[in-house]
Amino acid sequence: MRPISDLTEAELIAWLVARGEPRYRAAQLRRHMARGASSFESLTDIPQELRRTLAAELRWSSVEPVAEAASADGETRKVLLRLADGKSIESVLMPHHGERNAVCISTQAGCAMGCAFCATGEMGLQRNLTAGEIVDQVRHWQAALSASGERVSHVVYMGMGEPLHNYEPTVASLRMLADRTLFGISPRRITVSTCGVVNRMDALAAEGLPINLAVSLHGPSDGVRGEIMPINRKWGVEELLAACARYVARTKRRITLEYVLLAGVNDAEPQATELAALVARHGRLADFHVNLIPVNAGPGGFRRPKAERMERFAAALEEAGLAATLRISKGQDILAGCGQLKVEQR
Ligand code: SAH
Ligand code: SF4
Repeated sequence: MRPISDLTEAELIAWLVARGEPRYRAAQLRRHMARGASSFESLTDIPQELRRTLAAELRWSSVEPVAEAASADGETRKVLLRLADGKSIESVLMPHHGERNAVCISTQAGCAMGCAFCATGEMGLQRNLTAGEIVDQVRHWQAALSASGERVSHVVYMGMGEPLHNYEPTVASLRMLADRTLFGISPRRITVSTCGVVNRMDALAAEGLPINLAVSLHGPSDGVRGEIMPINRKWGVEELLAACARYVARTKRRITLEYVLLAGVNDAEPQATELAALVARHGRLADFHVNLIPVNAGPGGFRRPKAERMERFAAALEEAGLAATLRISKGQDILAGCGQLKVEQR
């Protein structure tokens, strides 16, 4: 059975018309989908007979929660979701003092990119997710939040998988999230993170979606980056920064460079200067912002640098004219921090 989230609006209308139902039911159903309703049965403004047919022929969601964990920080929550074929993915809710509810979603079960520090990479790629499976993670959290009258306000594509390695479903899911008749989440509140799939970055720039792009750089040179990120063998740092510059030129949007701090690998002050020089060779420093992420426990035995060393690295970037923020990712006690999502697959 297909999940309703995998039907386009046109397909849903065709499905309804084929069963003698009015087309306007499509808009009604799509509204319910995005607003956190929990089943076909609960849609009391849909005639009971139609609800029964819907439930017999379509699935309300493509993801089924099987376990949830809440962090001791009192905010972060992680859910293990089972897909129809038995594969599993993880998704994280990161509320922030009642001001915002950010959701971190996966685009693949596992990941093929094999970054040395990442637990998802260690799994290898199990399979790509469909657009419905991607947005159903947002629907899962929306349903949980709607009980208290809250909404998902921000979405980050930083869960399991490489979004640009599952390009079409990722873009389709972005359009669904931004669609005002569906989720209506402003693209400015949506962030896609990529390890640097250069050809797809160019494609994304041409989609006309004013989302935020985050690029996982993690090293100022091919020497350092090539050791920890296999994709660097395909597209080196110069090609990657050139693609970033093209993205900025085309979209007029700034780019976030993510930089995971690994003690003794990429955290020396001269490497900060090297990083700023790399960016300056390709674009305006003001078009970039660096997010420094102390490495979370994971594969490879990497360690976090001492706090003062991380602060010195951030200061060196700032001195070189590159804005930088040191971020501690939350939810590590439940392994919900960046790069910690991993599922034992059957
Ligand atoms: N595949 C995409 C998005 C998912 S990973 C990408 O790589 O960008 C989201 C972020 O978590 C990336 O910046 C990634 O490099 C980072 N990350 C992976 N493992 C990590 C770890 N052990 N500690 C901190 N950040 C990590
Ligand atoms: Fe994949 Fe991103 Fe993890 Fe690299 S960091 S293995 S691209 S999920």
